[in-house]
Amino acid sequence: MIRPVIDNASIEKLRSLINRVQRVVITCHKSPDGDALGSTLAMCHVLHMLGKEATVVTPDIPPRALAFVPGVKSIVVHSKQPVRVSSLLASAQLLMCLDYNAFSRVDKLGEELAPLRVPRVLIDHHLDPKEDFDVMISHPEASSTCELVFRVLLQLDMLQFVDRFVASCLYVGMTTDTGGYAYSCENAEFFEILMLLMRRHIDRLTLYNLAQNTFSESAVRLQGYALSQKMQLFQPQGVALIMLTREELEHFGYCKGDTETLVNKPLAIPEVSWSVLLREDPDKIKVSCRSQGDLSVSDVCANYFNGGGHKNAAGGELEGTMAEAEATFLRMLADLFPDAPVVPGPIPCEDNPLKDIQNEEI
Ligand code: 5GP
Ligand code: MN
Repeated sequence: MIRPVIDNASIEKLRSLINRVQRVVITCHKSPDGDALGSTLAMCHVLHMLGKEATVVTPDIPPRALAFVPGVKSIVVHSKQPVRVSSLLASAQLLMCLDYNAFSRVDKLGEELAPLRVPRVLIDHHLDPKEDFDVMISHPEASSTCELVFRVLLQLDMLQFVDRFVASCLYVGMTTDTGGYAYSCENAEFFEILMLLMRRHIDRLTLYNLAQNTFSESAVRLQGYALSQKMQLFQPQGVALIMLTREELEHFGYCKGDTETLVNKPLAIPEVSWSVLLREDPDKIKVSCRSQGDLSVSDVCANYFNGGGHKNAAGGELEGTMAEAEATFLRMLADLFPDAPVVPGPIPCEDNPLKDIQNEEI
């Protein structure tokens, strides 16, 4: 059973706002990921079916790996079409903020959104909303904003609008934001929602592979290089670090999206409980963190890397050089594990515990 976790007052206020307005702008965070695009495009499609003029506005261009998301070509990109975005915002009657909760996460677009005097609706799963919203649907325990959009539609009694298109969009975000159902999906209702999406005859396998496991040859080689040559393992802290410089990225013809999922890979090693990727972008060092189980990386990213996110998947940004970013990482390890030596080294290979198998009673 899928329980109604969103409070009724928010649902009713959202219902009356949607009934009252005609023109809606739906926004998501910069460097849109599968959840940001999936949730906004699904919501946009539902609003179109309700006869509304809805548009998805993103701060910047999504990576090429997300070109398959249904309806993605309909988005208006602020960094490419600022005048078009200004005119859409000037006539908007409702602003929806999906998959982010602070205008700092939408780059320069935030400067245009902050002064808008129209009702604002938040649907998001990040901690601590930073802005004021007329309807605030903020559920950090949710796997993804796509899961929340499904729940909103369920509670609005609008599941009839979850057609194959909407179900495909929602499936993408629920898949990418959980690393392919690896984390942030401990609630069994998550899988009930997936089942309902599958009943809409989505092309599940194709979507899964496109969302989670499709890379160019050079991206696969870059990831192989990163894991074989650049991964450092810090024991006993159980932390993996990968640093990729601009020069290394350029050597592999790096394109946006090429390191997606790389930070998850060190977690395959049982001794590694969290993993950090430092990537030298043209204007900053991008930080990505992932953890297993109860260990929270969102606080680590907030305290050391000017960022935030979720318990098991978070990120941030650092100004300065890669050497300075590495120093911040090492300082963080020394702070969090004051008694442990900060020296990377290999983990010894374990013997097969089944090698002397004896057919024991169990
Ligand atoms: P990724 O490592 O895939 O870039 O990001 C993982 C998650 O961390 C995102 O879903 C987002 O919630 C959060 N995140 C990534 N970068 C930042 C950042 O710069 N600031 C904040 N506040 N959150 C971030
Ligand atoms: Mn998300």
